[in-house]
Amino acid sequence: MDWEEAKLHADQVRKLGIQQLLDIWKRYRGNERDVLLWGDEIEYLVVSYDEKNKNARLSLRQEEILEALGRLEREQKETIAKRKAEDPNYQSEVPPKFHPEFGRFMLESTPGAPYGGNWSSLLTVESNMKLRRRLAKQHLGEHEAPITMTSFPRLGAEGIFTDPYFPATGSKSRSQYLPDELINLHIRFPTLAANIRSRRGAKVAINMPVFYDVNTPRPFRDPTVDYDRHLYPEDDDVRRGAVKEGHIYMDAMGFGMGCCCLQITFQAKNMSEARTLYDQLAPLGPIMLALTAATPIFKGFLADVDVRWNVISGAVDDRTEEERGLKPLKNSRYKIPKSRYASISTYLSEDPRLRPEYNDPNLVVNEDIKKELLDNGMDERLATHFAHLFIRDPLVIFKETLESSPEGLSDHFENIQSTNWQHMRFKPPPPGDSIGWRVEFRSMEIQLTDFENAAYAIFIVLLTRAILSYGLNFYIPIDKVDENMHTAHAREAIRTKKFWFRKDIFPPLHQHAHFSTSTTPSPTPILPPPLPVEDEYTLFTINEIINGIPPNPKSNPPTPGFIGLIPLIEAYLNTVNIDVETRCELSDYLDLVGKRASGELMTGARWIREFVRGHTEYMGDSRVGVGVNYDLVKAVEKLGMGRGGEVTGSEKLLGKWKGRK
Ligand code: ADP
Ligand code: MG
Ligand code: MG
Ligand code: MG
Repeated sequence: MDWEEAKLHADQVRKLGIQQLLDIWKRYRGNERDVLLWGDEIEYLVVSYDEKNKNARLSLRQEEILEALGRLEREQKETIAKRKAEDPNYQSEVPPKFHPEFGRFMLESTPGAPYGGNWSSLLTVESNMKLRRRLAKQHLGEHEAPITMTSFPRLGAEGIFTDPYFPATGSKSRSQYLPDELINLHIRFPTLAANIRSRRGAKVAINMPVFYDVNTPRPFRDPTVDYDRHLYPEDDDVRRGAVKEGHIYMDAMGFGMGCCCLQITFQAKNMSEARTLYDQLAPLGPIMLALTAATPIFKGFLADVDVRWNVISGAVDDRTEEERGLKPLKNSRYKIPKSRYASISTYLSEDPRLRPEYNDPNLVVNEDIKKELLDNGMDERLATHFAHLFIRDPLVIFKETLESSPEGLSDHFENIQSTNWQHMRFKPPPPGDSIGWRVEFRSMEIQLTDFENAAYAIFIVLLTRAILSYGLNFYIPIDKVDENMHTAHAREAIRTKKFWFRKDIFPPLHQHAHFSTSTTPSPTPILPPPLPVEDEYTLFTINEIINGIPPNPKSNPPTPGFIGLIPLIEAYLNTVNIDVETRCELSDYLDLVGKRASGELMTGARWIREFVRGHTEYMGDSRVGVGVNYDLVKAVEKLGMGRGGEVTGSEKLLGKWKGRK
């Protein structure tokens, strides 16, 4: 349905979605003792080299590539089934999965089966990622390669950046820069782009600050904006002030949803544990965004930010002018402070340590839906969470789905749930499956190498184990998480910025560490009188958060210091039964995270920026030209693939980065 039709069915879809949610919740709320399962998602850009013209472009062959990879998966599964029939003891890994994404130049991969809770499986993460990259590469043309760069540096730049070439027109996006042909061909995706634009009443307008280099004109006015185009009514946007001075202007969903990221999903043992993990990981979202920074270029210009987040946020911002607070409410229902793609707006655990002050008293919720959830027995916090997600309209509706029974399905629920692209996602079990309550951590940037991707995935997994074992408390007010998200964008945020973080993350001594994950109510602990909320948190550097601050008994008053997340994980690993070899290998991964935090190793963003600024063709004017982009993409590909026997790309990368310090 296009937007004019879809909007008439929005309430119906919400109603069906809530019915499906309630069915799922009633059926699975009592799940207990589900095991730890987790998995990552890695997104790739597929590049296509034009060797004659020394140009690196985005390949638009997603369908063919996925078809070939799907065939391979089926063949492998058949072979495994055959072997198993012959020999019941036959063991084999499930072949990895590849999925489509918004950009027709993107691939997503996940492990064939989620990882379990045994320590040694952590050591298979990197090799599994490498296998997936190799498989992808094998199914590409000679001149093509998968790279793990968050955003293609010359996406939307002047000249040719796709293979095949298409001029920048198309009725779905109506962009000045991106042809509709680079959107995944499945009707869902172009419809999503068109309906976001229609609902908003204008094209999305993304302005990212330019990086002023020595020869960048001051003030910078994006020289690629066409103020004279009259193809679509939306061409008026730029004449009505959509472009901000000093910024790189982008005008289409593809700029954001064409970005790649690293996501991690965990299964908790029950709903309550999933809710605890959701809340406790939320304050780490912005910290991990800054720590994985890898996005310094947009539309062929160096930017004054290092991460992708706000680009995606702006790229799917479907709010009307009324919802954005630019006009008084008349046709829209709510004033909504954030885009659908944003940091979370409410904590949802029933943990007694969640003080009401941490949540936003002005959270916008759909009151009718909240009432319905409460009437059906859902508790206040969870009902509030879903009633908040359900302030949004369904963006893409398939007519057929309204004509068939919603029972036993989750499609209408997922319609709203999966277009709330928040930095954490609380995933209820899919109906009819054996999958439990899951939580997804979504803020991290994809890393150039699988060594780094594995390192961050493993770091987060280990952190969740420490959180649950020690009953850690990372709560800070939710608006401080928002503020941190903003801070995480700054160029070199790791070296130059401070982030709000909780000072004391340990539960009071006499409190039982596991109380928050148990469904049988434990006796209410006698808590010391709480501090004023403002005294619970303060500003830390990322280095302090990750590596700790030594206590200073000599200062006046003596300062307690801060343990640091890596020492905390190390302490946790000391308490579990884990063999020496595994422990050693895990410390390589933790080392990467620790050294990034301390600044000893540079971020991907810095590496890319320095590559550009050190290139002989770069003119110091913030422009990343075709030649620079070609060499950059080639270098990134080489890093990602790793070359030469035992020497992995990542080890070389580490060596190189150490050398450049
Ligand atoms: P989405 O795109 O909706 O986030 P995907 O299917 O692309 O979901 O990725 C989900 C990730 O969760 C994969 O890495 C997968 O291995 C992992 N996973 C699958 N089943 C479970 C489970 N029961 N518990 C935890 N993680 C799981
Ligand atoms: Mg996915
Ligand atoms: Mg994805
Ligand atoms: Mg995901």
